[in-house]
Amino acid sequence: MRPLLSALLICLCHAACAADWLTVASDAQRRVELDRASILPSDAGSKVAWGRIVLSDEQAKIYGYRSVRALNRYDCRSHSFMIVKRVYLSDDERTMREDRIDATSPSAVKTGTIDDRFFNEVCKPASATDLRKVAKQAVEQMARAELEDKPSLRRANIRLAKEEVAEKPASEAKGSLSAAPGASSPRNSAEEAPALPRRVTREEIPPPAPLVVPPRARDPAIIRRSTPSRTNSVNPALAAAIAAARSSTTPHSSHDLHWSYEGENGPANWDKLDPQFATCARGTRQSPIDIRDGIKVDQEAIQFDYKPSMFRIVDNGHTIQITYGQGSRLSVMGRSYDLVQMHFHHPAEERIDGKSFEMVAHLVHRDSEGRLAVLAVLFEVGASNPLIQTLWNNLPLEKNEEYAPRVSIQIADLLPEKRAYFSYMGSLTTPPCSEGVLWLVLKQPVQLSAEQLNVFSRFYPNNARPIQPASGRVIKESR
Ligand SMILES: [Zn+2]
Repeated sequence: MRPLLSALLICLCHAACAADWLTVASDAQRRVELDRASILPSDAGSKVAWGRIVLSDEQAKIYGYRSVRALNRYDCRSHSFMIVKRVYLSDDERTMREDRIDATSPSAVKTGTIDDRFFNEVCKPASATDLRKVAKQAVEQMARAELEDKPSLRRANIRLAKEEVAEKPASEAKGSLSAAPGASSPRNSAEEAPALPRRVTREEIPPPAPLVVPPRARDPAIIRRSTPSRTNSVNPALAAAIAAARSSTTPHSSHDLHWSYEGENGPANWDKLDPQFATCARGTRQSPIDIRDGIKVDQEAIQFDYKPSMFRIVDNGHTIQITYGQGSRLSVMGRSYDLVQMHFHHPAEERIDGKSFEMVAHLVHRDSEGRLAVLAVLFEVGASNPLIQTLWNNLPLEKNEEYAPRVSIQIADLLPEKRAYFSYMGSLTTPPCSEGVLWLVLKQPVQLSAEQLNVFSRFYPNNARPIQPASGRVIKESR
């Protein structure tokens, strides 16, 4: 019997390694996340990774735990997975209960479910850099763990890791973390590239399935059960990765397209998530801004040519977005811009003389040369807004699932009575923060009810980029 190195590594690592949580789905009740730092090759063609569901305060009270983590084993070739272990954690990350799952057979990953998104993220081909990163973390972690508690156990693990590297273990590659009969994937050498699914892009990400909280999680009893790691396999892919790490001086690199409004992937770090997002930090004409000291002039009226249209609505993970039928446009400063889409931010991103607003609609327009003009309609709480109500009535139930209701709307109904506006040159307020965007911010806010505002804030409590420096930009204001 040999210790199952990857299981030990992943458990050790998970106890103390810096996790890299990627939000795969979220709603008002819970957040579903994958720890990318935990993804490790298991036996041939499969990988293991930790995922977790973090509950809202309200849900945590109901279920008696804050989060549940699951260690899953993914068979990247047969598009299936197994839960190996579940751990229920309290507010302060204390283990409340630990369940080892002895599943008898792997479950097929159904297209369009959260499991499918986890699968795609875990099973996408690992680059050499990724492998080195993972292995380097594992080696570093083991070295660190040696100095911490349970030193003898961890020293044993390090010794085993060294043995793994020293050996030629492909012939022993068998078994799985799940230790379930019939769960092993066909044997394979580490060099053979397993048939991996094509990585889906964000736009293609299918909608997640509704999350089912495991019934056992409702059990209020707090049971602490220690589960010794099963031990029966060596891991050629991991050994190769460790070897690669040892001969590598490649610095850690992380490219991440999964930007958000808070935490590590929040606005302050957008530029670091992808080279294409560099403008978010280096740009000098960024949006939003606090609009003040405008030059009061007679700005020409914006000509609106909005037609009633059917629409599509999607919760794209950053906002609720409406796609409108073709043929609607606005004209200003000698250019005609087609309406492309509309979306919302709560609170409003732009401020006027320091004043903030509850919400804003950004109507994104593009001209024939690809130049963008964004019309901002500010919202304050007051009377119910019929157009917003129609949109909210048709909110999709799942993220990234576009819904095309059989309802037509007139986007012009959203505009305030007075069309005086501020204009300035800025940027997209989301990555890649591209500049050269003409901003047209209507001065008169429109109203929506507190209830309507509350609906949006349940989806997005805060999806506003912080104010950017105006840096002496010219701002014009209609008199
Ligand atoms: Zn926007």
